[in-house]
Amino acid sequence: MSEVLKGVGIVPGVAVGRIKRVSQDIEKHLPYYKADSPAREAEKFTAALRQAKEQVGKIIDTAKKSLQKDPADIMEAHLTMLGDPMLQEAVLQKIQETIPAPLAIVAVTQEYAAAFQSIDDPYLQERGADVLDIGRRITRILLNIQAVVLENEPVILAAQALEPSVLTDLPAQIVQGLILEQGSTTSHAVIIAKAKGLVTIVGVSGLNELDDGTPVVLDGSNGTIVISPEQAECASYIARKQAEEAQYARDLASATLPAVTVDGRQVQLAANISTPQDMERALQFGSEGVGLYRTEFLFMGRDNFPNEEEQFLAYQAVVAQCGPHVCIIRTLDIGGDKPLSYFSIDQESNPFLGWRAIRICLERPDLFLPQLKAILRAGATGKVAIMLPMVINGSEIRRTRKYLEQAAAELEREGKNYARNVPLGIMVETPAAAVLAPQLARECDFFSIGTNDLVQYTLAVDRGNQKISDLYNHFHPAVLQLISNVISSAHQHGIRVGMCGEMAGDPLAAALLTAMGIDELSMSSAALPRVREKIRSIDTRQTNEFLQTILSLDDGGKIREYLEKF
Ligand code: PEP
Ligand code: MG
Repeated sequence: MSEVLKGVGIVPGVAVGRIKRVSQDIEKHLPYYKADSPAREAEKFTAALRQAKEQVGKIIDTAKKSLQKDPADIMEAHLTMLGDPMLQEAVLQKIQETIPAPLAIVAVTQEYAAAFQSIDDPYLQERGADVLDIGRRITRILLNIQAVVLENEPVILAAQALEPSVLTDLPAQIVQGLILEQGSTTSHAVIIAKAKGLVTIVGVSGLNELDDGTPVVLDGSNGTIVISPEQAECASYIARKQAEEAQYARDLASATLPAVTVDGRQVQLAANISTPQDMERALQFGSEGVGLYRTEFLFMGRDNFPNEEEQFLAYQAVVAQCGPHVCIIRTLDIGGDKPLSYFSIDQESNPFLGWRAIRICLERPDLFLPQLKAILRAGATGKVAIMLPMVINGSEIRRTRKYLEQAAAELEREGKNYARNVPLGIMVETPAAAVLAPQLARECDFFSIGTNDLVQYTLAVDRGNQKISDLYNHFHPAVLQLISNVISSAHQHGIRVGMCGEMAGDPLAAALLTAMGIDELSMSSAALPRVREKIRSIDTRQTNEFLQTILSLDDGGKIREYLEKF
């Protein structure tokens, strides 16, 4: 039996190759450095700094050409740091004190990083890693050493941590996968690995025992690393990799097929996105617009609120890519499981039932109005709709309409282009909204059922608690009754109803929801192909009885079993 290491799979897929260890340890080279006079050391530092800027500039160009926005943004931040006069001053000062240039850079960047890392904010701590990264880049130039030397055969990089700039620069044909001892989902190395689609596993201990050249297989979907796999095992992983690649190619090819049932009922399939970059994959898999734009991600990973202009640019970028389809922009859904480091909310014993989402927005017009204005402006460039999270009362919709009037009046005064009559809808994600659907349908233009929260609030089961995850079931009959009532209430009042919770991306739910009459299903892009395939195989003339049977059952587990058989 081959040996197995376990970590957290971050980027799924199978990768096969030989280990290539990457060390960030440049200190061991420092004693061999020949220092000159301070004046000469200062010259060498300035030349190395210039070369580092050129290298980073080239990496940015390559990233932009291959449409890798996250890597390009991260490297732009490095370029800004490389141009920081205070950092240069500090290094030159140390050189004047007769400290050799490489040691001076290492010392200064470590001081900067320590200051960042002492702040209790993951975003700013990550900036500390960026400073160390640029420090190592300049030092390597001075020491004339390379970060990674690759031959022409497939490798799996293994490192304690990896500088994002090193990863950005590596050839995709040779680097097949990445194993890191450290690395959280927000670390820049991980963001870049995701953007490159590089199979990645983090949080792996025991990497020291892996020698260079050891053959390994990575399974990014479950975080498994198989060391020195036996031939048959390796062959079965390679077969899986080929099958996944073939399936991917078929999914791309079927992305243009309409999601229409055998008897001609069309369900619109849209994507859930968090950033404009997510649109690339959404369009590849044939999404017809965006059913949920989670705007709070624009507010995360930074240290202040994005202003109206920044928001407008982000929304407009997505709206442009939606073409003739609608982009449903959800207003800020912070609080609960999505705190912002720079916006303090008093300690709450029950944050999921606390001051969050629309509750915050209605009390804070200084946050709400710039967002509404940015959305209305994006609406002048294409099709948008506004969606409110966590609604429980009709008054929340009416109060939002007042703010929308105010936003429009301000834009009018400022002479900015904006859309009039942007549809206003709500997420039906609280039992209150689901029960009140007939009344709420009179107040708004559409519904989108948010099953992630609707399930947790209806069943009193925390959506993030592993211990009770078997109780968290979107097929629970209470949830299905609510969904069925919401869909019929919407249709009785002539408004559209979609779903944007995870249930929408479950192919097992597709037949049931289509039979109930759902108009739109919005999901993460990866789920689009399977749901499309499922809808194309359904005949709703034959699903009536099946729907009645399901709605008569009293246990979520039984319903799941029944659907699996059906
Ligand atoms: C939901 O609750 O179903 C939903 C889509 O919103 P989020 O997952 O962002 O809470
Ligand atoms: Mg929700």
